[in-house]
Amino acid sequence: MKNKKIIIVGAGLCGTLLAIRMGQRGFEVHLHEKRPDMRKESVDAGRSINLALSSRGLKALAKAGMEADIRKSCIPMRGRMIHTLEGEQRFSPYSGRADEYINSVSRWGLNVQLLEKADEMENVKLFFNSHCQEVDLEHATATFRNSKTTEIWQDKGAVVIGTDGAGSVVRRSLMGRTTDLLFNYSQNFLRHGYKELTIYPGDGGSHRIEKNALHIWPRGSFMIIALPNLDGSFTVTMFHPFGGDYGFDALTSEEKVKDFFETNFSTLIPHMPHYVEEYFKNPVGSLGTIKCYPWQAYGKALVMGDAAHAIVPFYGQGMNASFEDVRVFDDLMEETGDNWSVLFERFQDMRVDNANAIADLAIDNFHEMQDKVADPTFVKKRQLEMKLEQTFDDYYSKYSLVTFKPDMPYAKAMELGRRQDELLLKMVEGIDVEAIDLNKVMDEISQLHSTPVA
Ligand SMILES: Cc1cc2nc3c(=O)[nH]c(=O)nc-3n(C[C@H](O)[C@H](O)[C@H](O)COP(=O)(O)OP(=O)(O)OC[C@H]3O[C@@H](n4cnc5c(N)ncnc54)[C@H](O)[C@@H]3O)c2cc1C
Repeated sequence: MKNKKIIIVGAGLCGTLLAIRMGQRGFEVHLHEKRPDMRKESVDAGRSINLALSSRGLKALAKAGMEADIRKSCIPMRGRMIHTLEGEQRFSPYSGRADEYINSVSRWGLNVQLLEKADEMENVKLFFNSHCQEVDLEHATATFRNSKTTEIWQDKGAVVIGTDGAGSVVRRSLMGRTTDLLFNYSQNFLRHGYKELTIYPGDGGSHRIEKNALHIWPRGSFMIIALPNLDGSFTVTMFHPFGGDYGFDALTSEEKVKDFFETNFSTLIPHMPHYVEEYFKNPVGSLGTIKCYPWQAYGKALVMGDAAHAIVPFYGQGMNASFEDVRVFDDLMEETGDNWSVLFERFQDMRVDNANAIADLAIDNFHEMQDKVADPTFVKKRQLEMKLEQTFDDYYSKYSLVTFKPDMPYAKAMELGRRQDELLLKMVEGIDVEAIDLNKVMDEISQLHSTPVA
């Protein structure tokens, strides 16, 4: 069994799914998590309370035999519900095809379901309160500190895989080897942060606003979104600048917060009876993009998930991309088996450009969600995309390529999607969408697909 022990650092979403798949393949897996067991102790499950799960994530879960069970805990969100300042609501479907939608899922609930599955497996051992301090890369040995007993100990495997999130210690160990690994690293913070609030359930656990939608209140340089929960509540997230007259740094008194909400989100207030209290109680989180390379060292250590590519949440793809990492890693293993050096090299070759692409797309969507969703040309382009998707099975908008086409790599989806966007925006300018000849549009799109990028 010398080559068969895998140490995974971080039992979040990515690490736990990886542990399950590697366990299913017969490896001995040690899964270490710095926090207590979230099934037994109340711990903050992580950043956001709920998440949008879509086809890339579902495809990875299906490979672990978990898709059907996870779907039972999901609420389908079929489109964006845009709430204007005047209180109007406008629904914009995510796709022209009825079976293409995204799903709201509880982060805690999903992580617990994954942990339960991992725990059922004899060859997967879970270590909680096990905080990785550093990794000896050449010897695939990780040092842990038990946060309850303060004991320090080392765990050695054939390989160490870091799925320890954006602040990864495993990545830091790679970074420490700047010269021999030629390690590149970049971190870019947005000047916006986020804060979570709650829309409370209606009578009998009903949803006070449309259940099957992702709600957006776009207001130019700031916005609020809300995703439904099974208990009838919605998790509300303010994406908001730190600075400026109304930034987080300026909203320092009850009066200012009330005034800000009454001016910008008056229709939300009746649904959020405790918003002022929650505003001052809940933390502000930061939002950033992390890119790095290489992701592996000496065929002994590897990072994946947010540890390798943290992205801003505006495409709802961070977890989906992390699950896709697991699926791709697992697919590659069909060819490489446990030839770790070859596997790690191939994995990073296949994933780095795709991770960079979804990172860039997520930044694009930050701008799109804030103000473009209310822009008339953008709205017309969406209408045209809907008609194309309803009419042609093989037409996918940029959003659909990213979200509903799990077999298309992110980099390819970005390239095609951007070219399509450019073309469609030109086509709808000054023209009524009803007057556009859809067959002609499809001809142009087919040409575009067959033209190599310059
Ligand atoms: C506000 C917000 C909204 C989001 N919405 C979406 C969405 O709708 N859809 C989507 O796909 N993605 C979304 N994301 C992104 C998603 O949360 C991440 O991409 C996903 O959690 C990454 O999973 P991970 O397992 O790689 O990392 P994490 O979930 O961060 O898990 C890392 C785990 O490692 C543990 N750990 C950390 N350090 C150590 C250590 N030294 N030793 C041992 N254990 C350690 C942590 O405790 C944690 O359990 C959102 C993110 C944010 C911030």
